[in-house]
Formats: sequence, C-alpha cells, structure tokens
Amino acid sequence: MKTKVCSKCKEEIPFPDGFHKNRASKSGYVFCCKECNKAAAREWSILNRSRFRAYKRQYDKDNREKHSQYTIKCRTRYPERYRCRNITTRAIIKGNLILGPCVECGTTEDLHAHHEDYSKPLEVTPLCGTHHRQLHAERQRI
Ligand SMILES: [Zn+2]
Ligand SMILES: [Zn+2]
Ligand SMILES: [Zn+2]
Repeated sequence: MKTKVCSKCKEEIPFPDGFHKNRASKSGYVFCCKECNKAAAREWSILNRSRFRAYKRQYDKDNREKHSQYTIKCRTRYPERYRCRNITTRAIIKGNLILGPCVECGTTEDLHAHHEDYSKPLEVTPLCGTHHRQLHAERQRI
C-alpha cells in the first residue's frame, strides 16, 4: 500500500485514501491527512469565533453598501459571484459552513473561501490569503 507523510502529524498515512482531494491545491490533495484536517477545522470553529465576527462585519458592510456604486457594479457584472458570496458568508456566520485549514500550507490564519464553481456556494476550498491570491494570479495567466 502506498503511503505519504502527513505535513502536519508527520505520520505515514495511506495514500491517496487518507487525504482529501482538492482541485485548487497544486498537488491535487489537501495539505494534511483527513484526521488532521478534521482536527484543524474543529479547532478553527471553536477557537476562532472572532473569524465569524470578521465575516459578519464584512457581511454587514456589504449590506450597508448595497446601493454603493461599487456594489451595484459587482452585482450587475458578476451576479452569480455576488449571490454566491452572500450565501457562503451567511453559512459561515451561522456556523453551517466550517472552513478547514489552507489546503496548500495548513494555516488557519487569514482564511478565504475559494469557489471553483460559483453555482455551488457551499462547495468551498479553504485557502489562506497568500495562496488564494497566488491561485487566482496563476489562473489568470493560463
Ligand atoms: Zn496528519
Ligand atoms: Zn496557504
Ligand atoms: Zn478564489
């Protein structure tokens, strides 16, 4: 059986069964094993309530600015993306959607919810700010 060393717990984990697949990740797989991923997601949801507040603040701001030029432009130009982001943010605030660690580096700091498909708002890939920007920059070049 093939194994791969998990970047987080350093254990030899059966590969590919012990790792979540992820299209946004360069390797095609999540940074750490399924167990570590679960633990990190749990930790994130328990310890980082402030993240929910940060999302909530952003959400309130978006709503307040519903009629601002920028929001109107976004909404008319990318209606699907706009709708999608709203649904995701609401799910995160309510605790229905829990982000795991960044699939590239495993950090739980500065997490973004990346969408492969804007018609599936609850299918998100957790990426840190750095790797999220990197992913979009790379895709733009293709
Ligand atoms: Zn692990
Ligand atoms: Zn990262
Ligand atoms: Zn993205």
